[in-house]
Amino acid sequence: MDYLTRDEVREMILAVCREVQQNEQHLCQLDSYVGDGDHGSTMARGFRAVEKALGEPGHDSIDALFYCTAEALEEAMGGAIGPIFASLFEAAGDVCQGKPRFGAEELRSALQEGYDAVRDIGGAKPGDRTMLDALAPAAEAAETACGQGLTLPEAARAAAEAARQGAERTASMVAKKGRARFLGEKSLGHQDAGATSLAVVLGAVAAYCSH
Ligand code: ADP
Ligand code: MG
Repeated sequence: MDYLTRDEVREMILAVCREVQQNEQHLCQLDSYVGDGDHGSTMARGFRAVEKALGEPGHDSIDALFYCTAEALEEAMGGAIGPIFASLFEAAGDVCQGKPRFGAEELRSALQEGYDAVRDIGGAKPGDRTMLDALAPAAEAAETACGQGLTLPEAARAAAEAARQGAERTASMVAKKGRARFLGEKSLGHQDAGATSLAVVLGAVAAYCSH
């Protein structure tokens, strides 16, 4: 599958919704070591709202699907993390404006623009132990994949694997942002919840693109 159509993008986002909900407990547990233990419930609540919103009529373009996702996430998740995850999907909407298909190039720019948006909104940088530590290597991997002329499934798998490894590396980072920053070195030894979420999201994207 070199490109996704609008209907396939919708199915891909719905696959992400299911995967996030399946990881609810795991994500809460990761957040409980260093945060307040709600990250999984917040993510699941957000992506349940996305499922509902995408089930309504309308969304007749790929960008509309991503904007709808962003809006549902921002509304349902709230807090600081709502706008952060929403900005990623909003960036995907921006790069897909007027595009009838979603391919490796759209994935690459969505991750790049998404990274810039999350960094600007949250003010974190790589190494602060946030979801950016998964998003930055994912964006880089997609960039490399596009430079090599790889297909959408290959680029998506490369980005997902880079996010997975990036999330793993957060286990050796001390938190500098969010609630976890108050716990300092207690954050050592466990993966960051938000970075793990990002890896879950991209894992579902890669699985959908490869099926
Ligand atoms: P809260 O911290 O309000 O309880 P969540 O538990 O849902 O929100 O989310 C926690 C996650 O948010 C962290 O694991 C981290 O990855 C992410 N995060 C926190 N602050 C930032 C930031 N400034 N930029 C990007 N991600 C962040
Ligand atoms: Mg939390």
